[in-house]
Amino acid sequence: MSADGGFGIYIHWPFCKSKCPYCDFNSHVRERIDEARWRKALLTELDHAAERLHGRRVGSIFFGGGTPSLMEPATVAALLERVNAHWPLDQDTEITLEANPTSVEAERFRDLRAAGVNRVSLGVQALDDAALRFLGRGHSTAEARAAVALAARHFPRFSFDLIYARPGQTVPSWRAELRAALAMAGEHLSVYQLTIEPGTAFFTTHARGDFVLPDDEVQGALYEATQEELEAASLLAYEISNHARPGAECRHNLIYWRYGDYLGIGPGAHGRVTLGGEKYALRNLRAPETWLQAVESKGDGREEAAALTASERRDELLMMGLRLGEGVTRERFRTETGGTIEAALDPTRLRALCDAGFLLFDDAGLRATAAGRQRLNAVLTQLLA
Ligand code: SF4
Repeated sequence: MSADGGFGIYIHWPFCKSKCPYCDFNSHVRERIDEARWRKALLTELDHAAERLHGRRVGSIFFGGGTPSLMEPATVAALLERVNAHWPLDQDTEITLEANPTSVEAERFRDLRAAGVNRVSLGVQALDDAALRFLGRGHSTAEARAAVALAARHFPRFSFDLIYARPGQTVPSWRAELRAALAMAGEHLSVYQLTIEPGTAFFTTHARGDFVLPDDEVQGALYEATQEELEAASLLAYEISNHARPGAECRHNLIYWRYGDYLGIGPGAHGRVTLGGEKYALRNLRAPETWLQAVESKGDGREEAAALTASERRDELLMMGLRLGEGVTRERFRTETGGTIEAALDPTRLRALCDAGFLLFDDAGLRATAAGRQRLNAVLTQLLA
């Protein structure tokens, strides 16, 4: 399926000014970056991939990271020109770039817009200076507000991210922060719960007791408050952490969650590409310099390309699709797996999860309820066992 959303292209810029203590993304701090060399390598990998993927309609391009707003707008422009040379873009192609709301990066918005970016996603994370310091962010609340206002002026579409369930956070303080965020929001907001991931600085400091996260009950209440506040503002939860007015959903992420085809360019980028009836999982080398050298010597930085088995496709489709409010339609399931949902799943487990109020299964297809999406990993473990 490249289905409704077309083909997606993800381009990874792996560098950040500093490493945030909660971050487990493939992001790195380097004193000096040879941007011309990186630009050439990203273009080379794009050309290499295009050789086998003629004739696709590109529905979305997404510059993620790392911090792609640190790229020179000329690099973004060169990459977009090259995508357009391989797969002619149209007015409808969503072109998103992730940005941090520091004043330096916001200054580039005009040039990024001129390069073709039509949507930005800003890492605001909090509207509270103490929380921003705790999260290791390089911007203040005032800078975040200014960057959001500038984004609204320059780009037809924008979104920003917030992180909740921070130490000491209460429901009233979070509601007040959310209302402040809604006052400056556009048609899309991403709201993530703070989690402590292995390998991060927070993993160490949390383990040694430097801070305590809100307990499960408070986390649940913060989640409920989030849903209530955003729903009241007509930003509906179309995915576990993503809220939008109908029609303003992030089309790129919808490609992932609807299990469409996408290509990943850059270190550590993943892809899912259907060729000759097979769906391939593609994974690039993760370390930036290793990827760079591989591209320079052989044209791409691929570490793995594996055809997925039927049961892997079923599992991935459900793992992605059940994140969405719309779930997995019967038609999408059949297109992707060649079979029906009933035949693919254990009926006893499916019924038990429906009876417990975590899943809904009807003529439209299979979807998780709000309660099911809140504990999706546990639901999937039971469903796919
Ligand atoms: S700016 Fe984003 S990608 Fe970079 S370290 Fe912070 S959270 Fe991670």
